[in-house]
Amino acid sequence: KRKAKLDTNILVTGILNGYITALSRAITLVESSNPKHLQQANAVIKLCLPKANKSVRIGITGVPGVGKSTFIEAFGLHLTSLGKKVAVLAVDPSSSLSKGSILGDKTRMEDLVKDDNAFIRPSASGRSLGGVARKTRESIILCEAAGFDTIVIETVGVGQSETAVHSMVDFFLLLKIAGAGDELQGIKRGIIEMADAIAINKADGENLKAAKLAKVEFNRALHLYPQKESEWSPKVSLCSALHREGIDELWVLILEYLEHTKANNYFETHRTEQNKFWLLQTIEDRLKSDFFNQPKIKEALKTQLQLIEHGETTPFVAAEYLLRLKN
Ligand code: GDP
Repeated sequence: KRKAKLDTNILVTGILNGYITALSRAITLVESSNPKHLQQANAVIKLCLPKANKSVRIGITGVPGVGKSTFIEAFGLHLTSLGKKVAVLAVDPSSSLSKGSILGDKTRMEDLVKDDNAFIRPSASGRSLGGVARKTRESIILCEAAGFDTIVIETVGVGQSETAVHSMVDFFLLLKIAGAGDELQGIKRGIIEMADAIAINKADGENLKAAKLAKVEFNRALHLYPQKESEWSPKVSLCSALHREGIDELWVLILEYLEHTKANNYFETHRTEQNKFWLLQTIEDRLKSDFFNQPKIKEALKTQLQLIEHGETTPFVAAEYLLRLKN
């Protein structure tokens, strides 16, 4: 017990002094499924919390191949050149199955990896999005406590994960490329609605003309959406992550967004709303997994599902029965 306590204090001191090894170790604790590790992780987070929160959290999404990692590298290097400290995290619940579809391979950001003012952490593994998202949220706090002032969270724009990322960031960026229809890019309407900016990447060489056209189209399309709660009108910009062009303009845009949302208090209230949401979400996740993981429930659920199949009970009667069975 004493030893764990000591470790916790050493770990927290290390994090607060910006030591990457301490930060990495704490994130490993957060990601562990061992209850003892989780307990220590909670203690570490509690001590780090007062030092967190002073950052900008930026979510970046886009389908595979759109240029996310190329972009994040260019963006990250631009920010560190401005004296910022950048942490890159990811939410990708599929990565444990498909073996690291994003960020799994660190060589994808070769230059940023070598940058002392950047920290890159691949997505936590886990079968449920809720679990992966929780780990990422807690990692954000640890990174902030370690002095990272800009947190970039990458996700693939094909599943539910962008909704989860949207609910943990201040600014949400959608990367696109010109020329492919929305269906081809696998982007759902809802994602465009979430975006605070759309960056059309690969705006270089022969693509440039199409990219400029796409910019006009997206600008037009964005006008069709209702005004955001933040009262910010989403912007469309062009960039070439490969040639590192348009990156500084995008950062200026984010600064404008921050100025706007801090002036109208949205920044603060939005973060509070996100915290409330995550509190409820965490409870929901826990209740659900506690319920469904009971052997008694597993068994009874099977029976009730069979009864439903044979038309011998109704969903409501079955649910009522199962809920009463729980401890
Ligand atoms: P991700 O799957 O979204 O992370 O995409 P990557 O960053 O791995 O990029 C996919 C491919 O597009 C790579 O071959 C990149 O070199 C290329 N790419 C990325 N950004 C640009 C860009 O701005 N211009 C051009 N021409 N190619 C790019």
